[in-house]
Amino acid sequence: MIEKELTFLEAVKINLDECAEILRLDEETRLAIKTPIRELHVSIPVRMDDRKIKIFKGFRVQHNNARGPTKGGIRFHPDETIDTVRALASLMTWKCALPNLPLGGSKGGVICNTKEMSVGELERLSRGYIRAIANFIGPEIDVPAPDVYTTPQIMAWMMDEYSVIKGKTQFEAITGKPVEIGGSLGRSNSTSLGGAFALREAALEHGINLKTATIAIQGFGNVGFYAAKIIHEMLGCKIVAVSDSKGAIYNKNGLDPIDVNKHKEDTDSVINFSGSENISNRELLELDVDVLIPAAMENVIVEKNADNINAKIVLELANGPTTPAADKILYENGVHVVPDFLANCGGVVVSYLEIVQNSYAYYWNINDVTKYLDDKIKETYKNVLTVSREKELHMRQSAFTISVDRVVKAMKLRGSI
Ligand code: NAD
Repeated sequence: MIEKELTFLEAVKINLDECAEILRLDEETRLAIKTPIRELHVSIPVRMDDRKIKIFKGFRVQHNNARGPTKGGIRFHPDETIDTVRALASLMTWKCALPNLPLGGSKGGVICNTKEMSVGELERLSRGYIRAIANFIGPEIDVPAPDVYTTPQIMAWMMDEYSVIKGKTQFEAITGKPVEIGGSLGRSNSTSLGGAFALREAALEHGINLKTATIAIQGFGNVGFYAAKIIHEMLGCKIVAVSDSKGAIYNKNGLDPIDVNKHKEDTDSVINFSGSENISNRELLELDVDVLIPAAMENVIVEKNADNINAKIVLELANGPTTPAADKILYENGVHVVPDFLANCGGVVVSYLEIVQNSYAYYWNINDVTKYLDDKIKETYKNVLTVSREKELHMRQSAFTISVDRVVKAMKLRGSI
C-alpha cells in the first residue's frame, strides 16, 4: 500500500515511535519526547510602506531543553505552518544531541513572502517578531538563528531589537549574525561544510572516489550553493545538476557553481544557464549520479519516487526530505542515506561556537572553527555508523537512537520523567 501523503510532523513522529521501539521506552517517555515544552503563537503588526498595518502570524516552538537552552532557526515562508515548526523544533532537539552539544531544540517561523516585501518592511517584521517572543528567548533560554529566507542581516536586526529590550548588547542571544557584530567566522557556510565532511566520510566508507564522483543538488539557496561550491572546490566532485523552485539544469560535463550563482543573481533562477539543459526537479532527483543532495524542502523523496532514486549516496542537507516509507525503500535498494540531522548539523555546531565566543568575548580564527567542525562531524558520523552496524539499523534509526537515548537520560536525571 502506498503511504498517504504524510506531513513532516507525522514523519518525525513515526521515526520517534520506531526509535522508541528499538530503545524499549515506556509510554510516558514516548509521549514526553514527542511533546514540545512550549509553543508561542504571535501576531505581529507591521506598518507597511503604503502606511497600512498588516498583521503577520508567527510561531516559536521550544521542543526540549533537558540538555540545555533550546536552539533553532527562524523561517520566513508563505506556507509556514505550526506543524512544520513543531517538526523542525523536534528535529533540532535530536540534531543538537547527536554531536553532543549542550543544547535543546526549538524552531520559529513567520508566515510571509519576503520576495514581496521591501527592506524596511522586512526589518520592521523581524523586530516585531522579536518583540513578540522576547520574554521567552535569551542566551540561557532559547537562541534563534537563520533558516529558510532569513539572513545574517535579519539576525542583526533581531539581535539589535533584543539588545534594545534588555538595555545591553546581547550578541549571544541570536546566532548567524554578520561577523562584524559577533558572528562566528565560518558560520555562513558551516551547514554545507559540515555536509561536505560527512560526504567525505560516507564516500570513504563506500569506496567512492570523490575526484570522479557526480553530484546532483536540489535547491540552490544558502545551503545548496555553498554545498556545490565546497564539494566542487574542496572534494573535487563534478556538480552535474542543480535546481531551484523554478526548475533544474543539467550538464553531464559539470557546472561551475560560481557561474551558476552569478546567473541566478542576474536572472533570479538557475534555469536557462548557458551550456546546460533545463530539466524538471523530478528528473533531477532521479538522475544516475553518485550523490544526490536534497537541499530545499521537506518530503521530496517519498514512497512514490524512492524506487527511482539512482544515487549511491543521499546526503540530506534539507530538513526532512525523506519520508519513513521512502527511507525503507532506499535502505533495501542499498542507497546510503546520510540523515538530515547528521548531514546538516554543521550549522548548529558553529552556532554553538558562536554562542561560546560571544559569551567569552574571545574570537577564534577560521582554522580553529573548521578543525572543530571537522573533528565533530568525523566523530559523530563514526558513532552513527558504528551503532547502525552493531544494531543492524539504517543510518537514520541509528542517529535517532543515539540522540533520543541522550535526551531521555538527561530528562530522567532532571526528574522530568
Ligand atoms: P534558502 O531559502 O537559502 O534556499 C532554499 C532553496 O530551495 C532556494 O534556492 C529555493 O529556490 C529552492 N527551492 C524551494 N522549493 C523548491 C522546490 N520545490 N524544488 C527545488 N528547489 C526548491 O534556504 P536554505 O537556508 O538553503 O535551507 C535549505 C534547506 O536546508 C531547508 O530544508 C533548511 O531547513 C535546511 N537547513 C538550513 C540550514 C542553514 O544554516 N541555513 C541549516 C540546516 C538545515
